[in-house]
Amino acid sequence: MQAIIKARPEVGLELSDVPRPVPGPRDVLVRVSKTGICGTDRHIYEWDAWSAGRIKPPLVTGHEFVGIVEDTGVAVRSVRPGDRVSGEGHIGCGHCFCCRTGQTHICANVDILGVDVTGCFAPYVVLPESNIWKVDPDIPDDQACLFDPFGNAMHTVMAQPISGQQVLVVGCGTIGLMGIGIVHAGGADLVIAVEPNPVKRELAKVMGADVVLEKADEQTVKDLTDRGGADVMLEMSGHPAAIVEGFRCVRNGGEIALLGIPADDVIVPWAEQIIFKGVTIHGINGRRMFETWYHCESFLRRRPKLIEPLITHRLRFDEFEKGIKAMQDGSACKVVLDWTDAKT
Ligand SMILES: [Zn+2]
Ligand SMILES: [Zn+2]
Repeated sequence: MQAIIKARPEVGLELSDVPRPVPGPRDVLVRVSKTGICGTDRHIYEWDAWSAGRIKPPLVTGHEFVGIVEDTGVAVRSVRPGDRVSGEGHIGCGHCFCCRTGQTHICANVDILGVDVTGCFAPYVVLPESNIWKVDPDIPDDQACLFDPFGNAMHTVMAQPISGQQVLVVGCGTIGLMGIGIVHAGGADLVIAVEPNPVKRELAKVMGADVVLEKADEQTVKDLTDRGGADVMLEMSGHPAAIVEGFRCVRNGGEIALLGIPADDVIVPWAEQIIFKGVTIHGINGRRMFETWYHCESFLRRRPKLIEPLITHRLRFDEFEKGIKAMQDGSACKVVLDWTDAKT
């Protein structure tokens, strides 16, 4: 079958012929219909320091997908051929302390689809039955292939109460924008979005931000809120200066959920911005299995168009490079690839 692979330890991805994966007894073989290109795939394309340290080529990339079950291993019980499914790309070991205490999303030995194991940028992907998610028929394919980033946003938002809160969202990449949509739908009192890119600032308004700022500053946010700062800060930028400014914008006793990954260490005034203010900080990794997935499904079932404005590019699988270029130049938000015509 055709697949988008990282063939060698260098910049780029290529379309190549690879063997079709074979499901084990507890695995599910999925005929992939649509996939999303993630920021992670872009990092892998660009072969940054993280990718170089983690990825072992050759590797089929990709982890965001929806498709139809083609075949199942003999021990699989919960899904059958013909079911429309997506799947959790973080494959827990099932044995470590976190896996055994309902925290598989922070498994110590996690394998990530398209990062550590064969991914979904292909017409077929194999995933353990326990990672498969049956998708509600009311959720269209274009949205259903985005449970992964939507789940990141959902997990970040759901880390603290949102209803009636004044929320600052720092960074309006795809996940930040999804977060704005969830916070808005979830009954926040005020949504303030911060983003330097003007295209994404416009999308922030579309997603329901009440105020959109090019840059956060403490006084502006204090003036916009009526309680001495934001109740909640969702950090989606990973930008060191924006992170520190975001901390300053949070009121005493506020909550902070951190998802954006900075390339370097970040220096936050520890005593002044954390201890004396009595803030609560949540580190967010992946999606809770499968609490976050249930939340995502509920939101999308009630609002099937919630993340529709964020899909800026719908391309054939073999146009993936065009999608990555559009992500690099800032003109794309979410790129969805169609695998219908790929050689199987
Ligand atoms: Zn992703
Ligand atoms: Zn584990």
